[in-house]
Amino acid sequence: MNKDLIKKKHQKKIKLYNYYNKKYYNENVSEIADSEFDELKKQIIDEENKYNFLKNKNSPSLNVGFKPSKNFKKVFHKIPMLSLANAFTHEDLLNFEKKILNFLNKKKEELKLKYSAEPKIDGISASLVYKNGKLITGLSRGDGKEGEDITENLKTIKDIPQVISAKDFPNEIDIRGEVFIQNSDFEKLKDKFANPRNAASGSLRQKNSEDTKKIPLKFIAYTFGFEKGMKIQNQSDFLKKLNEWGFKINHLNKLIDGTENLMENYYAIEKIRTDLDFDIDGIVYKINDFKIQNRLGFVANAPRWAIAHKFSANKGVSKIIDIDIQIGRTGALTPVAKVNPVNIGGVVVSNATLHNEDEIKRKDIRVGDTVEIERAGDVIPHITSVNFKKRDKKSIKFIFPLKCPSCGSKTIKEYNLITKKEDAVRRCSSEGFECEKVAIEKIKHFVSKEAFNIDGFGKKIVEKFWKLKLIKLPQDIFKLNYNKIENMDGWGKQSVKNLEYSINLRKNISFERFIYALGIRHIGFENAKLISKNLKSPKKFFNLSKSNNFDELLNLDGIGETQINSIKNFFLNKTNSDVLNDLINILSVKDSIETKKNGPLKNKTFMLTGKLDGISRAEAKSLIEQNSGSIISNVSKKLDYLIIGEKPTKRKIETAKEMNIKILNQKEWLLMLNKTS
Ligand code: AMP
Repeated sequence: MNKDLIKKKHQKKIKLYNYYNKKYYNENVSEIADSEFDELKKQIIDEENKYNFLKNKNSPSLNVGFKPSKNFKKVFHKIPMLSLANAFTHEDLLNFEKKILNFLNKKKEELKLKYSAEPKIDGISASLVYKNGKLITGLSRGDGKEGEDITENLKTIKDIPQVISAKDFPNEIDIRGEVFIQNSDFEKLKDKFANPRNAASGSLRQKNSEDTKKIPLKFIAYTFGFEKGMKIQNQSDFLKKLNEWGFKINHLNKLIDGTENLMENYYAIEKIRTDLDFDIDGIVYKINDFKIQNRLGFVANAPRWAIAHKFSANKGVSKIIDIDIQIGRTGALTPVAKVNPVNIGGVVVSNATLHNEDEIKRKDIRVGDTVEIERAGDVIPHITSVNFKKRDKKSIKFIFPLKCPSCGSKTIKEYNLITKKEDAVRRCSSEGFECEKVAIEKIKHFVSKEAFNIDGFGKKIVEKFWKLKLIKLPQDIFKLNYNKIENMDGWGKQSVKNLEYSINLRKNISFERFIYALGIRHIGFENAKLISKNLKSPKKFFNLSKSNNFDELLNLDGIGETQINSIKNFFLNKTNSDVLNDLINILSVKDSIETKKNGPLKNKTFMLTGKLDGISRAEAKSLIEQNSGSIISNVSKKLDYLIIGEKPTKRKIETAKEMNIKILNQKEWLLMLNKTS
């Protein structure tokens, strides 16, 4: 490529970047995902590093934020409010550290650098100028040199102290931090704003501070601009002091040395990122020692002593090609958006759940729309917002089907007795084995892990056998024509033998698994356990309808009218009772095992991590419960024992050790039960 062409392309990217930047800072609009924005910035900076002739005064490598809006008085920051350089990989961190050591003319062995690692809250930064302990001015970052005077709005935030009387609070200081809105508070505002950051930015820049006051904004402090009379030597002490002076600080801040440890902390925080009540998009690392910070100074628009380690993208932008309706085992109709495949954080996403009919209506989601998709942890990707500007003029509202797309039955929305509202979910009214899609899902549930757990009989086999008309109802699984299967593609003598063996093995089934497998609405595993424990014998359950003795179940804690009605409806359905009768003849459903009231694990709590040898998680849990122990799901003071198997989660073990919780291997635990294997 020749020089002119490279320059032209580069300028085009800068123009585009500044367009998005203006939208983001001045209009609170994100036209592209944050990750794409970061990628554009990275490309511009990389190109500038590669070609010397690409200097441009509008480049993001020289500028911060965007010009302050005309709606507010403009005020100069005494010390500029800068941006941060970005890092994405461990290699970027190593380079960051290497550059610092080179600058200081030190070798790695000579200077062990310590970093203050602080989660990067995705909010709006603000500068608070205090004189003689009083809040005088509050500014936004603006373009870094000049900010907007938003003092009155900032004063409405409860986390911001207006008077500080601590003796060691400097006479003059500019405290800086992040204004944001908690995700739980955002829930109530999500009709008005696209995301928590927009909500915070929009509310903070209201013309009337009474409007800002209505929004529950929060503030976390993390740095300072100019100061007079402060006697603190490093960032971690400064953070502690901020807290003593009455500011909130991030509870996940940590002092860390070495880039390996930074990486470990990064992964640990990325893991819990979606559980936090505020959005973070990375971790900021700052050289802890103020003396070193001062020596390092700044480049054009960012300090040399800090870097933002960004998390891998969890959002992407794509176009909806179609809206599919999936039907679940309870007849629930779940809309799913089929989107043009988009890479989000290394995973190609082509489906995004739309939850239910109400969600589509609320967000006015239509086929053809350009949308932002979020993929957080293991959760199914979902659509966070629609870009209405990119909507085709001819687009039409999505009409939710009033008839089941599988069987043509009417679809209904039930009235919820507890919330006294109509359900958000629309369902196929057949709700039995009459609807093909529902029936397939019911059989998938029947063979699932906590139900019959038939080895080698997964969801794919259910679909395949259904298509081949080998199964139509759950009991057909026990009447399979194995000769026919043996001659089918992909099957052989041995695999069929294995399948037959696993199916026959499950003809003996526990009472609780059996009830759960029936897939009665509102009877999940816990309720199935409760019923089996109390009715004790399966016969009693089978006879419930005959004796019309459902009220007996009402005494059980956890079983209410909704559950009873659901069980009654189950028995009223002719196919269901046929299925039940057939299954009773084929299977041997065991009476429920009494849990020992005074078993060896009485009053003891357990948690499991890693894979146990020869025993499933579900079975281990049930063994603990049968012996009067109980299970808890996180490492806390309430935990007595952490049982570790193969490949346990390291963090759980470390936390347990820190809390002096006893750690057992499988053998030690079984010994407690007087079992040796
Ligand atoms: P950038 O958004 O790339 O310009 O990065 C700088 C911004 O990161 C600041 O203006 C703050 O809004 C934000 N930020 C969030 N948490 C911190 C923190 N602990 N230290 C410094 N900046 C932070």
